[in-house]
Amino acid sequence: MARVYNFSAGPSALPEEVLKECADEMLDFNGSGQSVMEMSHRSKDYEPIIQDAESMVRKLMGVPDNYKVLFLQGGGSTQFAMVAENLARAHRKAAYIETGVWAKKAAAEAKRLGIDVDVIASSKDRNYSYIPQVQRISGGYDYAYICLNNTIMGTRYGYIPETDGIPLVADISSCVLSEPLDVSKFGLLFAGAQKNLAPAGVTLVIIREDLICGEEECLPGTPAMLCYKTHADNGSMYNTPPCYTIYVLGKVLHWIERNGGAEGMLARNREKSDYLYDFLDTSDFYHATAEKGSRSMMNVPFLTKYSDHAADDQSAAAKEKEINGKFVREAEAAGLVNLKGHRLVGGMRASIYNAMTLDGVKALVDFMGRFAEENR
Ligand SMILES: *Cc1c(COP(=O)(O)O)cnc(C)c1O
Repeated sequence: MARVYNFSAGPSALPEEVLKECADEMLDFNGSGQSVMEMSHRSKDYEPIIQDAESMVRKLMGVPDNYKVLFLQGGGSTQFAMVAENLARAHRKAAYIETGVWAKKAAAEAKRLGIDVDVIASSKDRNYSYIPQVQRISGGYDYAYICLNNTIMGTRYGYIPETDGIPLVADISSCVLSEPLDVSKFGLLFAGAQKNLAPAGVTLVIIREDLICGEEECLPGTPAMLCYKTHADNGSMYNTPPCYTIYVLGKVLHWIERNGGAEGMLARNREKSDYLYDFLDTSDFYHATAEKGSRSMMNVPFLTKYSDHAADDQSAAAKEKEINGKFVREAEAAGLVNLKGHRLVGGMRASIYNAMTLDGVKALVDFMGRFAEENR
């Protein structure tokens, strides 16, 4: 059986070691005679699994004691509403920095809930190819919201805004544990797990305790399931948690620890992304779309020279489409899969999350070099 190099933006590649451990334990976890998939979430076999996952999140991310770690469902997208429903309490007003699709969706959801949304900065003017510089956020806001790594646009904050006491909320779905992060600078962090931590199905939420309020303080009509307190009071077991996904998450966290923790991931991710960007920056056939200084280590969108005139010339656009299609097909045949770009950026995108190896990136760059030679 040959495994491919999987560059999917999400759900995405998991460490092979973790998959093997899961396979080994599939029919009989730890002498219980059951698969973790089959267990009661309240059983003595399962409880240590969720407890270990939480303590590993705390350890690897350095989560301070006055923060809760929650395992929720509904993906990153449900957090767009939950953040507003739980945090927009005093002023019903929030500041958003618009850096692409996911930040825009989050702002739109808050607006739908009647929150006064201030888009205090945007990189829309250059198709979200950079991160605006907003060193300081102040004003009568209940919270300020950023998307730390923009999965589609391939951009990443190189700084954390100061907020003068306003709780800072960050979507870290596509960069969680890709590098060290000072949790104490944030009021709330959340991450859909399917990019960098686990299969789809669990959302990690890290929330400062003073921001957790009862249902009566959330926006009127907030369902119990969308109230952080419901889950915080019940150790993420108010209802059935995504048991199996949390089990895989725990294994991925141990894998991260064995590989040097957040610092180890940073070294690994810097090496991989530098290798790919260095190739792109010296190529006369490809170019990265994200601006230097704002580039993601996780998601690398790139175009070919055929995109240069595609916006205003129909035959160039047709040629670009043909080349992109050919690239994706031939890459797949070479064992490099899920490289098709997002329609909003075009071209190709290589997502190189924690689990992607340097060998995988080198194989991609080798392929790209050959493809350029054959199609210039
Ligand atoms: C994928 C993604 C989301 C959406 O996550 P779902 O779990 O599919 O709802 C939100 N934010 C970012 C940054 C993402 O990459």
